Amino acid sequence: MAVIRNVLIWDAERSDAEYGDIVIDGGGGISEITEAGAASGEIMIDGRGRTIALPGLVNSHTHVSMTLLRGLGEELPLMDWLQKKIFPVEDRLRAEHIRAGADLAMIEMIAGGVTCFADMYYFMNEVALAALATGMRAALSRGLTGESARKLKENLDLADEFNGREGRLIVQLGPHAPFTIPRRSVENIARTAKEKNLGVHFHWLETKGEFDSFLAEHGTGPIEYLEQTGLLDVRELILAHGVWFPPDGLRAVARDNVTVVHNPKSNLKLGSGYAPVRQMLENGVNVALGTDGAASNNRLDMWDEMRTAALMHKGYHLDPTVLSARQAVRMATVNGASGLGFKNVGLIQAGYRADIILIDMSGPRYVGCNRTNVPEFVVYAGSSRDVRATIVDGKILYKDGECVTLDEEEIVSRASKYRAEIDEL
Ligand SMILES: [Zn+2]
Repeated sequence: MAVIRNVLIWDAERSDAEYGDIVIDGGGGISEITEAGAASGEIMIDGRGRTIALPGLVNSHTHVSMTLLRGLGEELPLMDWLQKKIFPVEDRLRAEHIRAGADLAMIEMIAGGVTCFADMYYFMNEVALAALATGMRAALSRGLTGESARKLKENLDLADEFNGREGRLIVQLGPHAPFTIPRRSVENIARTAKEKNLGVHFHWLETKGEFDSFLAEHGTGPIEYLEQTGLLDVRELILAHGVWFPPDGLRAVARDNVTVVHNPKSNLKLGSGYAPVRQMLENGVNVALGTDGAASNNRLDMWDEMRTAALMHKGYHLDPTVLSARQAVRMATVNGASGLGFKNVGLIQAGYRADIILIDMSGPRYVGCNRTNVPEFVVYAGSSRDVRATIVDGKILYKDGECVTLDEEEIVSRASKYRAEIDEL
């Protein structure tokens, strides 16, 4: 047994935080929460009563390898940005670029308390290997466009090789977006996902243009599209963005197997708009949070997403009660984990995996933080720089400024070399 001693524990199922010891069994699960100082076992970290323990943050929609494209095509509309800047470069990336970008992203994520992410891209076996090596948890899908049987086969091969690996990887099918893949291919993907018991990760109604042309393009409205293609019946459906989700259709996605991933900063930066998150919550939709790729954010910082989400909807609705700090942390932890298919991840309770982050509360910004206000301090006052340790399955991936499982210097130097190649393309 390993013990994280004397920390102030909060997760989305608690009202007040409590001081306690977290006991982790040899398999990386949480076996028990005891009173502070009461647990016996090897002390892994002593929080000394000045450390917050939260569940690890879950980045529920990203493209990690786009860290290598950061800064390309700044401040363009989504379609111009994709078609003129991103797609031409992506056509020429090789497996080693993808791995370098994934490694780079993992440094940033674990240093900011992210323990799990959902990724859609290509050469995804590289991302899978990077996650396995780093120790992160991930839900992975191969982005599928057009009618490519080759890409679907790659996605299915990815599932054969990595789905369920070490209990940390889940593979989903990744139809890219309604405007990049024909409807009959989406129907085929939904059917295949059901046969193989796989989830689906899909970009969904990100821009107003996509919504406005939906009927003309697909012959039905968006809700009918979800129903008729079979997408609503797959194991897990992850709908990224949903900025232009018609509020009167939200009831249809208030289901245990469907999650909408809100990407507040990417939506603001690309000028896509304000997702109807208040209405999603009112309708009982499972909402998670994501950063999207580093080329449209440009950080992979879930603290930023929690804070931006909690602020922007209050401003938009002229109502300070909309999207509370507690809801923001819930979205960034258990809602994301369960939405991606990790059912025992996202809370600090016996029986859950030990995916935990420790936050230093000894600094000036946490004066006044106590059992009653942990999520509010984290969301409104805290920042990713306060993360002291990041733990997945009971293993320390990051501690006191150091990546334990990654060689930061080597990764930054390798990524810089590949980025220079990209700038030449
Ligand atoms: Zn995306």
